[in-house]
Amino acid sequence: MQTGSNSTARWKASDTRHHLHPFTDYKALAEEGGSRIITHAEGVHLTDSEGHRILDAMAGLWCVNVGYGRRELAQAAFDQMQELPYYNTFFKTATPPSIELAERLTALAPEGLNHVFFGSSGSEANDTIVRMVRHYWALEGKPEKQVFISREHAYHGSTMASASLGGQAAMHGQGGLPLPGFEHVMPPYWFDYGDTLSPEAFGEAAARAVEDKILAIGPEKVAAFIGEPIQGAGGVIIPPESYWPEVARICRQYDVLLIVDEVITGFGRTGHWFASEHYGLKPDIMPLAKGITSGYLPLSAVMVGDRVADTLVREGGEFFHGFTYSGHPVCCAVALANLDIIKREGLIEKVQNETGPYLAERLRDLSDHSIVGEVRSLGLVGAVELCADKANRTHFDPVGKAGVICRDHCIGSGVVLRAVRDAMVISPPLIFEKAHIDEAVETLRR
Ligand code: PLP
Repeated sequence: MQTGSNSTARWKASDTRHHLHPFTDYKALAEEGGSRIITHAEGVHLTDSEGHRILDAMAGLWCVNVGYGRRELAQAAFDQMQELPYYNTFFKTATPPSIELAERLTALAPEGLNHVFFGSSGSEANDTIVRMVRHYWALEGKPEKQVFISREHAYHGSTMASASLGGQAAMHGQGGLPLPGFEHVMPPYWFDYGDTLSPEAFGEAAARAVEDKILAIGPEKVAAFIGEPIQGAGGVIIPPESYWPEVARICRQYDVLLIVDEVITGFGRTGHWFASEHYGLKPDIMPLAKGITSGYLPLSAVMVGDRVADTLVREGGEFFHGFTYSGHPVCCAVALANLDIIKREGLIEKVQNETGPYLAERLRDLSDHSIVGEVRSLGLVGAVELCADKANRTHFDPVGKAGVICRDHCIGSGVVLRAVRDAMVISPPLIFEKAHIDEAVETLRR
């Protein structure tokens, strides 16, 4: 593809004129003269249309786990496209890649998650879950169990139901969200909500907020609780260790299904196949996407536990739900090749034993900085909380401005990091080396 200043100018003008981007202020983009155009990538580096080489410390959108330029994944797609480019999995048909991937995922997933429903995105996965869970409770003779409980700052997708599950105030401000039947509680975000409590005591208090909400609604009306093990797009909110065991216990006590959204944390991000292993969680349902194909093709999977699946099978009756691309054979073939790479190259062990601890150490080094209020990480996902007053954990005013300044500086210096409010977030490809971590952290310090 041609690059250089002529094509860049033409692309920017055309992009601004015709292309409505996700999560973008269109007026601001036009005033700034258009998008940065990424033309190619290799390993952990992007190249833009002006020839700048940029270290991608965000793995695209938290998804390019095996890094860019994997010929093996392109070959898997090519081979499958020649063999069978498309067939659906509706109406009692299947394809070999979808069958093989379902089997492989159930072998990797936490105990009991022995069934898979495929989609193309995390949002579709979470919409599927809302419909499947309500259907499940109806089949169980408890159709009044309809309400989903989630957390503030949660991100579960952009469709009507998944954005209702989410706890993003800005998203709820547009389009009349959340829909009825979606409730939100305090997140386990010690830095912002912890006040004078120790992190562990606060973790228990945040779990109690889930119990209080269940009791306020009435357990007979609560279908499920959903949470990301670590709230990624909400600012890499890592809960105190006391939080998840208590939430799981509360869900069991009130017969509320536990849904653990591993769209970001799955496939090695935290140094485990799934973060549920770190927290000792046994979800009833677990949505997956992103790292399942390392972002090379769109694919998501809802991992469904025996409890729910057994009822669907026992009671019968059609589940009136699905997508044209559910179990797309080319996406599934690429996912299988991607899982092979993660396993063969020991990427999960690398994160757990080498790069995860190193990232934690290098982030800790930033704690002495006058505007760093907290650092947090698990495996290769982390955040640095910028604040005006460290002792009192007071944010800058307006919240988010410092993050934008810092993020823009980083990308101007050749490193992609993300700002969520004033939390600087890192979530690099799992092939990141220590030298890449050094470069990202040193750029951030500057
Ligand atoms: N769930 C979580 C935890 C996510 O972080 C995201 C996206 O960032 C989604 C769901 C939605 O995934 P998608 O953008 O593929 O619809």
